[in-house]
Amino acid sequence: MARYHEPVCRLCRREGMKLFLKGERCFKEKCAVERRSYAPGQHGKRRNKMQPYGLQLREKQKVRRVYGVLEKQFRRYFAEAARQKGVTGDNLLRLLELRLDNVVYSLGFASSRAQARQLVRHGHVRVNGRRVDVPSFQVRPGMEVALKEQMRNNVFVVDALDTAQGRGVPAWLELDAEGFRGKVLAEPKREDIRLPIQEQLIVELYSR
Ligand code: SF4
Repeated sequence: MARYHEPVCRLCRREGMKLFLKGERCFKEKCAVERRSYAPGQHGKRRNKMQPYGLQLREKQKVRRVYGVLEKQFRRYFAEAARQKGVTGDNLLRLLELRLDNVVYSLGFASSRAQARQLVRHGHVRVNGRRVDVPSFQVRPGMEVALKEQMRNNVFVVDALDTAQGRGVPAWLELDAEGFRGKVLAEPKREDIRLPIQEQLIVELYSR
């Protein structure tokens, strides 16, 4: 399964904003965006005025990077979003939010989506009592997502849950922190997604 292996802080610096890809470190002074708030590379400090295409491309890259999805898979999400009824941009974000790794992160069992992805890949997550090790698995309303018993004392999971209490759980999810399980109450609506995303730019990009 292909995934991005390069330093992730470069991605935040390229987008010029925190994408919160590293968990706890993102809230500390060590954050690369705090220390070097310019794009990476030799010409990173140059300020070029972006054309509409550049803005659309950057928005798409930003969303891809937040959810840890590579280009080919992202295009598949977009095709599916365009096929569904309703607003394509909303559909796209909903499909991404309903990924199992995102749900594990949103419930607070992991401090980043990358860590959540690893929990899923290593078989530590149960959906309706059954092991699911596919991070892109689409959860549906009514499903229960729980951590394997052995992981409930894991220091990373306990720390992540502690931190997540402050972050709060989205309204479309219900967390039972003591039972290390959560329930999907409904599909997420656009207003439930708090990330600063202009999904219309992505729709424009792929509609060229
Ligand atoms: Fe991005 Fe987090 Fe790295 Fe800061 S520490 S640059 S928010 S991944």
